[in-house]
Amino acid sequence: MYELELERVTAEIKKRGAKRVLLQLPDGMRPFAFQIADYLRKATPVEVIISGDSCYGACDLASRQAKELGVDLLIHYGHASFITEAGIPVLYVEARIPIDVSKMVEAVLPSIQGWRSVGLTSTVQHTTQLREVAEALGKKGIKALIGEGAGETPEAGQVLGCSYSAATRLPEDVDGYIFIGGGRFHALGLALTTGKTVVVANPYNGIVTRFDEYELMQLAKKRMASINAAKEAKTIGVLVSSKPGQRDLAEAIVIAEKLGDREKTVFLIYVDEVRADQLNNFTEPEAFIETACPRIAIDGVSGIDRPILTASEARVLLGERTWEQTWGRGYLG
Ligand code: SF4
Repeated sequence: MYELELERVTAEIKKRGAKRVLLQLPDGMRPFAFQIADYLRKATPVEVIISGDSCYGACDLASRQAKELGVDLLIHYGHASFITEAGIPVLYVEARIPIDVSKMVEAVLPSIQGWRSVGLTSTVQHTTQLREVAEALGKKGIKALIGEGAGETPEAGQVLGCSYSAATRLPEDVDGYIFIGGGRFHALGLALTTGKTVVVANPYNGIVTRFDEYELMQLAKKRMASINAAKEAKTIGVLVSSKPGQRDLAEAIVIAEKLGDREKTVFLIYVDEVRADQLNNFTEPEAFIETACPRIAIDGVSGIDRPILTASEARVLLGERTWEQTWGRGYLG
């Protein structure tokens, strides 16, 4: 179902005269890795090496591996450009997935009854079809708006688990949002960031769901409990990610200093990946604050036995923002 754009990739390899490339794919695309590598090796005299480490997003660019291996080009599948200064040439292949627009619009209509306007969002797999979705909704009398892309989300209507500016920068207020894509996290982030109702149109199974209040309230209770537990902690570990698009040492230092001013013992912990088997061995901290990907704290990491807060939740802990100023108002990005 993915558009692998093998001809574009081949042309780029030839244009650059690349002798060795590193191929990086997110987990969901790894079943295509050998197929892609085989095509490129037959189409060009290039040596293809496949990155076997984690790849959670375009923030997780394998630039360090690419430099270690001395490749001429890093081919990154499944995401759009996120990191401006990678230090090596990067070819992004977004891996679009075409959707049946009229079928999707018909499926969505019962969930947005009474709405006069809607904000359209999706992952990069479907952004090129958002205009078509907007036109189809327009014919049904619903004004559909698509926010301009910028920075980490260069495509119009594109959202990431940590960035929703294409949704928040609409020229006018809307009754709610439609998110087109699989999984729940982007839609959850959209609800937490905008405070509006979000309808999720999953183009892979055709199911349309609405983020309900109960689900959000359950999450709110969990997050408040984590913040309160971290408030009581005397010793806290602040996690800094080594992943190039998640690393935020400056923010981690600021948070650590402010916690130190409140008489907590705080140390920074530098991690490649947040994993229970490694973090649980640090038995001294009673809580963690992570400055990497917000999904780590919100989705949770299985087996970690202490509360983990996002950086924005740390601001609530520090008393810089109230819960009401955060929940539904830029909670994730
Ligand atoms: S949500 Fe997390 S994994 Fe996705 S781009 Fe943002 S930091 Fe990376």
